[in-house]
Amino acid sequence: MTRISGWGRFPVAECKVTSARSEADVARAIAKAPLIARGNGRAYGDAAMNTGQTLDMTAMDRMLSFEDGVLVAEAGVLLADIIHTFLPSGWFPMVTPGTKYVSLGGAIAADVHGKNHHLDGSFRACVDWVDVMGPDGNVTRAAKGDDLFDWTVGGMGLTGVILRAQIRLRPVETMYIVQDTRALTSLEETLAAFEETLDAPYSVAWIDCSDGPHHGHSLLHLGRHATVSDLPEDTAPLDVTHKRKLPVPFGAPPFLFRGLWLRGINGIYWRRNAKRAGEKLVDWDSYFYPLDALLNWNRFYGRKGFVQFQCALPQESSAEGLAELMTEIAASQTGSVLSVLKRFGPQSGPFSFPMPGYTLALDFPASERSLELMSRLDTITLAHGGRFYLAKDARMPEAVAKADPRAEAFAAMRKQAGLSDRFTSLQSERLGL
Ligand SMILES: Cc1cc2nc3c(=O)[nH]c(=O)nc-3n(C[C@H](O)[C@H](O)[C@H](O)COP(=O)(O)OP(=O)(O)OC[C@H]3O[C@@H](n4cnc5c(N)ncnc54)[C@H](O)[C@@H]3O)c2cc1C
Repeated sequence: MTRISGWGRFPVAECKVTSARSEADVARAIAKAPLIARGNGRAYGDAAMNTGQTLDMTAMDRMLSFEDGVLVAEAGVLLADIIHTFLPSGWFPMVTPGTKYVSLGGAIAADVHGKNHHLDGSFRACVDWVDVMGPDGNVTRAAKGDDLFDWTVGGMGLTGVILRAQIRLRPVETMYIVQDTRALTSLEETLAAFEETLDAPYSVAWIDCSDGPHHGHSLLHLGRHATVSDLPEDTAPLDVTHKRKLPVPFGAPPFLFRGLWLRGINGIYWRRNAKRAGEKLVDWDSYFYPLDALLNWNRFYGRKGFVQFQCALPQESSAEGLAELMTEIAASQTGSVLSVLKRFGPQSGPFSFPMPGYTLALDFPASERSLELMSRLDTITLAHGGRFYLAKDARMPEAVAKADPRAEAFAAMRKQAGLSDRFTSLQSERLGL
């Protein structure tokens, strides 16, 4: 048995972890089901944990074919490997989450979204097909339009084990992004700026939630892939090098996540970056993955770990709902230095998290106080017709998850297809999926 957790280091559980190196290994594990597949463990909570059997897929990491931007790869390949292999010849993932250390299987199972959801949709948009091993050990190739594809993309490993997939990469001329940063001083201004820049290929805002919506200072980072003509002379367009990472050896003192301290840190961060607002050229790693520069930053919150709250709100109730969430967070005097706001476009797949509107994500140190606050945030989100991201969840009660009618439909489909007693995670049990 091994003590494992998700990225948030909460909850922690003793799980029997085995590693799959081949399709035959996966079949053997499924014969001893129940189990859950695990990618690189970047989901925050317990989605990739099963005390009985957790099947680590990261050793199935071969890239099988590549032609003209179309890649067939095993589920354990990391986005970081895909980027380092193909960016030097001008190819980049069509959709990427805020860390490159996710596996292909994990990106598909969570149907991850990036800073371009408003234009390009979620990861599903670049997936042509997936090979899934089901409860009987048979492998089915599911393509767009198939029910199995729809439920698997976003299905959190609960429809079977993804063995391999075909995805399409995006051609890019350079590895640089032209970043345009706008410094804004309230939620209202920030939402207006998002709406005015819907044609920007990438957009994401860091927003200060420690002082309510009217003082919600934010930094909106817009981005587009730079062309060769954007680069200064003598800059190699595709010189992709590995960067050194700074270690985070220990946790920060808990008072930093409270009241005036938090407000002070957020204020300093905003003022420092507001001075540098405007357009500049940044490399792909700094724009898409700023947190990856810190090794094990999940230790920052200390031994007890942290929990993330991420909800999506429909466009029509986003302004009001976000204002209520920010008011509640400010009143609690707890929170994080990193609250992230993104604009979502149309719903991507039937069981995908994004819906047209806005998504807010923020971390809280794992504590009773945070869990109570998150339960109040759940109530506000549901009152505004919102939903929650399973890849970030570690603590939702079943009733909150089931308020999304798609959860009942998913659970019913699993039961009928004989999946519900074969593929289970601590999360699926907690949420009654
Ligand atoms: C710093 C950071 C930033 C993030 N930013 C974003 C973001 O911007 N957008 C976003 O959408 N997400 C984001 N995430 C969440 C992350 O992208 C997802 O949780 C992703 O699923 C993690 O992939 P993984 O390989 O680590 O999978 P794991 O965490 O190991 O597993 C996640 C889910 O995928 C399933 N799974 C994994 N492999 C397989 C397989 N082979 N077959 C079947 N199921 C499988 C697991 O069962 C589990 O349900 C972020 C996470 C971190 C740590």
